[in-house]
Amino acid sequence: MDEPLNALPMGVYPWQTQQWSQLQKMIQQQHLPHALIVGGVPGLGKLSFVNALVATLLCQNKIDNNACGHCKSCQLLAANSHPDFKLLQPAEAGKAILVDQVRNIQHSLATTAQQGGARVVVINGACDLNLNSANALLKQLEEPGDHSYFLLIHQWPKVVLPTVRSRCQLLEMAKPTSEQGLTWLQQQLSDNELTIEATESLLQLANGAPLKAIELYASKAQDLRHQMLVELTAILRGQKSTIEVAQSWQKKPLVPMLNWWIEWLNDLVKLKMTQEVSQVSNKDIVKLLQAVAKRSDIVAIYALIENLIQQLNFINQRRNLNPQLVCEELLHQWYLLVKSGH
Ligand SMILES: [Zn+2]
Repeated sequence: MDEPLNALPMGVYPWQTQQWSQLQKMIQQQHLPHALIVGGVPGLGKLSFVNALVATLLCQNKIDNNACGHCKSCQLLAANSHPDFKLLQPAEAGKAILVDQVRNIQHSLATTAQQGGARVVVINGACDLNLNSANALLKQLEEPGDHSYFLLIHQWPKVVLPTVRSRCQLLEMAKPTSEQGLTWLQQQLSDNELTIEATESLLQLANGAPLKAIELYASKAQDLRHQMLVELTAILRGQKSTIEVAQSWQKKPLVPMLNWWIEWLNDLVKLKMTQEVSQVSNKDIVKLLQAVAKRSDIVAIYALIENLIQQLNFINQRRNLNPQLVCEELLHQWYLLVKSGH
């Protein structure tokens, strides 16, 4: 609790501070269990915590018991080519970890650590060990040898085989207090105009796991973006009126929406100027953009971009705006974009 924030290495989140310093102490006193299962609900940052632990175990020049980030070991690990670090996980999502994968790792563990320090195996998917692969691993979990560590990640709510489970110590990943979670989440989403209430309900929805909350938010944003595209297309096709769409938009988060819209219009400009699809950033809507580009006038596109930027500035300056009117005007301009190009 007293740890200053800057003592945390990359990948360790504020709610993991206490557990992190406990493990640091264990490493320092050479008491770290040789087989450790990290458990907890999704979205608490288990994998990044374990990665930070790997870096610390392998670093040859620790600073304040954290990985230095500069020594040869740290560089090899960052380049994904550390000879004494192995990652074991299913070859494909949903598949089991196979006995051959375990044997390959055993083969490389049979030799001395090449960098002269610890050897670490991360098993990302403790529950994906099937009977055969688990059996092949048991002896190693029991007697891993000096300076060898097995770090297993348990994907809640799946079940780890009891034979594996009984040979490992369990570290239940800490959940943030609701205040901790909320503060962190607000920092992460500070550009997204989210009220405290909305942030709170997002965190509740994520079962108190902040990274899960971010994921949920991102998928909601995807839905919003999709909905927006559907409505913009409907206006061009004359299936919806600008007033109707403006009504649905006025209660939505306009800042990200207007920003997306500007991005799409920038893509339109690129298409008008080069006709090169490769220049387009929003690849998923190339067809729509091409159709609009064909029928619109570049001067009108620039005018709409300019208006969007101006409205965004007004919103950011918290000027008293009537969102319905603002949206109507912008959407009407969008409607005319295609009309004017005829
Ligand atoms: Zn280092």
